Amino acid sequence: MAEIIDGRALATNIKAQVAQTIQQIKAQGGTVRFAAILVGDDPASKIYVRNKQKACEKVGIDFILHALPATCAQGEITALIQKLSRDPAVNGILLQLPLPLTVVGRDEDAAINAIASQKDVDGLTVLNTGRLCAGRTPLAPCTAQGVVHAIKAVCPDLTGKNVVIIGRSRIVGRPTSLLLSHENATVTVCHRHTKNLAAHTQAADIVVVAAGQPGLLTAAMVKPGAIVIDVGINRLADGSLCGDADFNALKDKVAALTPVPGGIGPLTIAFLLSNIVTAYQLQHGL
Ligand code: NAD
Repeated sequence: MAEIIDGRALATNIKAQVAQTIQQIKAQGGTVRFAAILVGDDPASKIYVRNKQKACEKVGIDFILHALPATCAQGEITALIQKLSRDPAVNGILLQLPLPLTVVGRDEDAAINAIASQKDVDGLTVLNTGRLCAGRTPLAPCTAQGVVHAIKAVCPDLTGKNVVIIGRSRIVGRPTSLLLSHENATVTVCHRHTKNLAAHTQAADIVVVAAGQPGLLTAAMVKPGAIVIDVGINRLADGSLCGDADFNALKDKVAALTPVPGGIGPLTIAFLLSNIVTAYQLQHGL
């Protein structure tokens, strides 16, 4: 029976550290402030933003929501981000993605890159992406940090481990591959065009699946004793959530496994809070 990696418990520890640092900042008269920008009224995006708000408030981060209509011009989004980037009272900025593509000329990249790099708590600007490639970034993407943290909870030394990541998105798969490579793992990144996916996963000590495809990773695709990190979040027809891995079959074969929900999701939020505090410290030379 696999060890079930308890993302909620790991996240609780990170949040407690964050809350403690914020108390110290407050005791010195400081305020940690986070601005979230929500464009349009996509129900899932609204829930994600609300969850971030609740998490911020619990640890003492001032949360400000800027809501723009789906029809707003590209220039309106950029102008707001530039204003927040200049405002010394705002420490972290997050643009909730994806942006609604209802307006001709909508450019997600341009909007992301308007965020000041020291306030880029999602770690998605080209500058922070470049720093991550170079090996040094104080603000790496939150989910990628969550994946590494979950793996290290059961396998502290990744040197020489063969890791296969399914998914190469800029928010999950790609930054995760860079962080794991910096940890001395040997990383293979698979995606929709990969031939014979199972041949890759069967050879892996650690499989990270982040594809958004329920049931994609089966027990037959992993070797006994592997570690499986399931990043996927899929809503089924009955309203329940599941990941990309066949949890029930895998738990009898692998050494350790993350559940969905309760795995990488809570860690992603915890690392967002941690990045907001890091952003504050960067701006204050701490
Ligand atoms: P995405 O759609 O941007 O990327 C999916 C990646 O998976 C692509 O690179 C694609 O090539 C690959 N892929 C898809 N189907 C595949 C298949 N059959 N075989 C091999 N590769 C395949 O998605 P994303 O933003 O990276 O998110 C991935 C999943 O992770 C989603 O379910 C998303 O909801 C979830 N997610 C969870 C968290 C969290 O906090 N737990 C955070 C972000 C994303």
